[in-house]
Amino acid sequence: MSVIIEPFKIKSVEPIRMTTRAEREELLRAAGYNLFLVNSDDVLIDLLTDSGTSAMSSEQWAGIMRGDEAYACSKSWYRMRDAIRDIFGFEHVIPTHQGRAAERILFSIMCKKGDVVPNNTHFDTTRANVEFNGAEALDLLKAEALNPAAILPFKGDMDVQALEKVIAEKGRERIPLIMITITNNSGGGQPVSMANIRAVSAVAKKYNIPFYIDACRFAENAWFIKLREPGYADKPVKEIAREIFSYADGCTMSAKKDALVNIGGFLCTNDSKLAGAQRDLLILTEGFPTYGGLAGRDLEAIAIGLTEVLNEDYLRYRIASTEYLGRHIADAGVPIVQPPGGHAIYIDAKAMLPHIPVEQYPGQALSIELYLAAGIRSVEIGSVMFARKDAVTGKELPAPMELVRLAIPRRVYTQSHIDYVVESILEVNAHKERIRGVRIVKQAPFLRHFSASFALI
Ligand SMILES: *Cc1c(COP(=O)(O)O)cnc(C)c1O
Repeated sequence: MSVIIEPFKIKSVEPIRMTTRAEREELLRAAGYNLFLVNSDDVLIDLLTDSGTSAMSSEQWAGIMRGDEAYACSKSWYRMRDAIRDIFGFEHVIPTHQGRAAERILFSIMCKKGDVVPNNTHFDTTRANVEFNGAEALDLLKAEALNPAAILPFKGDMDVQALEKVIAEKGRERIPLIMITITNNSGGGQPVSMANIRAVSAVAKKYNIPFYIDACRFAENAWFIKLREPGYADKPVKEIAREIFSYADGCTMSAKKDALVNIGGFLCTNDSKLAGAQRDLLILTEGFPTYGGLAGRDLEAIAIGLTEVLNEDYLRYRIASTEYLGRHIADAGVPIVQPPGGHAIYIDAKAMLPHIPVEQYPGQALSIELYLAAGIRSVEIGSVMFARKDAVTGKELPAPMELVRLAIPRRVYTQSHIDYVVESILEVNAHKERIRGVRIVKQAPFLRHFSASFALI
């Protein structure tokens, strides 16, 4: 059989409220053409993010009822800790309310002014937490990975030569840790190979620099290794995941991704002294070290989600459905970042809408049209989000790429939803010359994409 089915039945449903184009025009105008400000009830297919949007299983909901809400040393805490140790293998597990809280604790203890943190690509909260502590966040992706059209099996790999060069130039003592993000979220959800993780780990060991993994999508990355890297086809994904983490000294994790829950995160390390300092900071802002800002039931759901996410039927369906969306629109001529990543498809709006100059935000224009035409919520990842100001002239400098991200929530949408998305994008593409650019009417001084208002040109 070539058809890959959703490996689950649906026990509880959440109705989608249908809307017409005329209604959506009115709703979007009222929201200042900013999709972050549209009510979710007015969205048909919500592809804004894969973070915290997973559907939990019946086992996880049963776990929610079993959650032990004791303040200290609850049974649910031990179940979560043991589930994490079983897969990740680290000695110390520190629960946090989400990924960025783990980052804040890690970097505020390890980084100081003048330090440098290399990563394949820092996710935006990771970069912000590094920079907030006065350190420099360096992205060391290989040059060929920056070409959106290049089809490579492991486009998330770190440039190991560049890493060696950075260590030689900056000096080992200025690099408190090396990090690698699996899969590379900001680089399109592209996987990192085991060979690359091993090589980065070897460099870290040579210079005695701690090596941490941003583990948000570790299961999706492990599945890509099984599919694409020689020698792993017959290994269980859990074993592949264990091997990945065996090369590292610790990790940060947003459980809102590959732990299949709606909130949560954790920080792991093998360094006992560091773990002590991390727990002290945890108590200050997150909570006691056996719950870290989460309810007992959340700990329980994470423990169960971490085992479910390594189910190979689930991963086969997950990666195939993302690829299905990417392949169907790309085959019909819609330019996307190739190859399809694990959790999202990125449309190259600059290539798709050459009649809209980057100053008129082609990515925002496309995401607006996808909502008006079909009720699909996507997110612009281009100059609205990442333009910088020229230090001298104050003029806006466009971002390197104008992308629209379609992120796929885990276990939420079926193939017919994805077929609807494909058909809608192809219809929009057929009339793309009608799409108009936008201008910004109102904006905040930073993180403007969340609250800006736009007008159609
Ligand atoms: C989501 C994410 C984070 C931050 O996690 P939150 O739970 O959103 O705070 C960090 N790194 C990567 C790669 C992510 O995708």
